[in-house]
Amino acid sequence: MILRFQPHSLELKHAFNIANHSRTATPAMLVEVEQDGVTGYGEAAMPPYLGESPETAAAFLRLVDLARFPDPFQLEEILPAIDALAPGNTAAKAAVDIALHDWIGKKLGAPWHRLWGLNPAKTPVTSFTIGLDTAEIVRQKTREAAPYRIIKVKLDRDTDRMMIGTIRSVTDKPVTVDANQGWTDRNEALQKIEWLATQGVVFIEQPMPRAQLDDTAWLRARSPLPLIADESCQRLSDVARLRGVFDGINIKLMKCTGLREAHRMLTLARALGLKVMLGCMTETSCAISAAAQLSPLADWADLDGALLIKNDLFDGATIVDGKVTLPDRPGIGAVKRLPSSGS
Ligand code: MG
Repeated sequence: MILRFQPHSLELKHAFNIANHSRTATPAMLVEVEQDGVTGYGEAAMPPYLGESPETAAAFLRLVDLARFPDPFQLEEILPAIDALAPGNTAAKAAVDIALHDWIGKKLGAPWHRLWGLNPAKTPVTSFTIGLDTAEIVRQKTREAAPYRIIKVKLDRDTDRMMIGTIRSVTDKPVTVDANQGWTDRNEALQKIEWLATQGVVFIEQPMPRAQLDDTAWLRARSPLPLIADESCQRLSDVARLRGVFDGINIKLMKCTGLREAHRMLTLARALGLKVMLGCMTETSCAISAAAQLSPLADWADLDGALLIKNDLFDGATIVDGKVTLPDRPGIGAVKRLPSSGS
């Protein structure tokens, strides 16, 4: 099996502001695997604050020798071996995992939701994300979110009343809040959540810093709204210790090394009584479509990543009337829009 990769810059429609930074593009690496005339596509999306870059991804992908594995279906051999090549590099690992899943699905002529036994009619609605911004931009983005049934809003320490008030001046749709670890004082966090519960907010994602699990457990015991782990939950090995600390977890392919591990995290979360949100980075429809294959298993989806970029190279899962909608195509369900100049 041949592995190819090529960098791609995801250009954002709006500068993306979260608690500590702002940016206008997200670096990505597009990956292809090819054997028997079948090509599988994958993608690593690498927001800079997570520590990966096109350079680290290229260095990691050069270590991956798929020719060592005679049967590409043997993911239980291949993926642990790739994971063991180096620590971290979760997005680069996810790119290979997604491409291999795409290849297998295409080879079998079946989409992954079907191979997993999932009903494509049972996909969840997805939220549309609004980042920290001026009231004028927030109003504009809220109007752009008209097709979506849930709005996700990014809040920091000081702008919560402005952000929520501005959104509420445009719509009464349910809102989910992502604090991105921004609330460091648990009493202050509780006061914010008590107020947000009166504003049509349905849950709070990562209210406190990832390591403050004792404070988060204290907060959860008092919070009128469910708390969902994002930064505190990266991989399968994180899930069990979050029981009793959070009410649910946000699974993202780029954090957890791909579909294989994401499926296991979903299973474990269910067994532990945790809710599951399926999230994303800014990504093309390649990685979004891969995650969407799992979405009938999730309580909530936050799969708006491809809607936030101007240069999506793939057609794949779409959002119809606010709901994740899976195409009837094999593999991850994504097809390339433009020829790759590197292949
Ligand atoms: Mg988050």
